[in-house]
Amino acid sequence: MVAEFGRAQVVEAIREQVASERSAGVLDDAERGRRVSARLRALAVPRIRRVINASGVILHTNLGRAPLSRSAVESLAVAGAYSNLELDLETGRRGERADLLYGPLNRLFDCQSALAVNNNAAAVLLTLTALCKGREVIVSRGQLVEIGGSFRMPDVMRLSGARMVEVGTTNRTRASDYEDAITPKTTALMRVHTSNYRVTGFTESASLVDMEAIARRHDVLLIDDLGSGAVEVMADEPTVSESLRLADVVTFSGDKLLGGPQAGLILARSAKGVEAVRKLSRHPLARAVRIDKLTLAALEASLRQRLAGHFDDIPVERMLRLQIEEIRRRGGMWSVKLEERGVKNTLMPGESAVGGGSLPGHALPTMLIALAGPASRIATALRRGDPPVIARIEKDACCLDPRTVLRGEDEQLIDAVEAAVKTVLK
Ligand SMILES: *Cc1c(COP(=O)(O)O)cnc(C)c1O
Repeated sequence: MVAEFGRAQVVEAIREQVASERSAGVLDDAERGRRVSARLRALAVPRIRRVINASGVILHTNLGRAPLSRSAVESLAVAGAYSNLELDLETGRRGERADLLYGPLNRLFDCQSALAVNNNAAAVLLTLTALCKGREVIVSRGQLVEIGGSFRMPDVMRLSGARMVEVGTTNRTRASDYEDAITPKTTALMRVHTSNYRVTGFTESASLVDMEAIARRHDVLLIDDLGSGAVEVMADEPTVSESLRLADVVTFSGDKLLGGPQAGLILARSAKGVEAVRKLSRHPLARAVRIDKLTLAALEASLRQRLAGHFDDIPVERMLRLQIEEIRRRGGMWSVKLEERGVKNTLMPGESAVGGGSLPGHALPTMLIALAGPASRIATALRRGDPPVIARIEKDACCLDPRTVLRGEDEQLIDAVEAAVKTVLK
């Protein structure tokens, strides 16, 4: 046991077993041995496990947002060994890890400068710290977003040392509001994409076109925190290319609509933006938030797949593009197979969500398999199964959405559903 689990864990398991026998009664040696080894096996199960996402939420924050493509996963192994991360193989001289991504990003977005960091929160913090510390940044009151708990724009602004100047109101901000707020201390106008909520009704916001005109007129930077980083036009989500045409510095996440690993991308095209990114990359904070080699490798692979147009191989992209006919066919197959195994269900129309704070209110039509039986007990049994399956409850039924179930997971899913439903209904 010590050879397999290590001394510390064996001691812990024996202590726990002895303590439990003190209160619950003493067992014989053979049974005690079995209990100790069961405890050890439970201790040895990795905390992080693969789950099947049948929730229909593509970028599910609790499930790690974007699943990586196979090619991105393979690249992790390459970077995990020794690699030419910071070595130019041609010249033998030191290379820059940042340069690794410039080629694909330039071809994909026509940017003139690029920096990848740990995540988009870091991208925004670095941008504001390096470019705006001690100066004024003008931002609309309608865009003071909170992205999940600890990332609130006003807090990030404070942390960076930039002085946030709020203009407009929650529902209306005009271009003139920005212009009127400009002082000699102003260093940037900032747009923050309201990626996880919508303000509807009596609303107005200045367009990025208007903001650009003002920024040029007063020779200040235009920073755009895009958040999701849509590559293609989708609903009313602003795209990276559109943003790069107008803003000097553009930031977004690697693991939202881009469908890559957790990362923050900072891109620029204008001369002012390129100069700004140069400043960012030299700032001490850049080292603290720099992208690690595994992420870098996965990001490069994801970008290359996009460049090659292999959208079907990028899970997020494939899920977003899935047509209802295909979902109906797959769902119908599961439905029949489950019935054959005695699991009663109905196929019904429903909606998938993009999730991850992207495209709120933008639902994708899907087909759901509604399992007969007590919804929350079935959902719990599924979650505790092996592999765990994450379902969602809708109209009092435990539902499975085929859209977010990865290719090749069908058989395992059906086995897991059969097992879970049978434990609940036995
Ligand atoms: C998601 C998001 C962030 C934070 O990005 P992470 O990659 O999660 O750090 C920042 N700003 C906006 C507008 C976002 O949508």
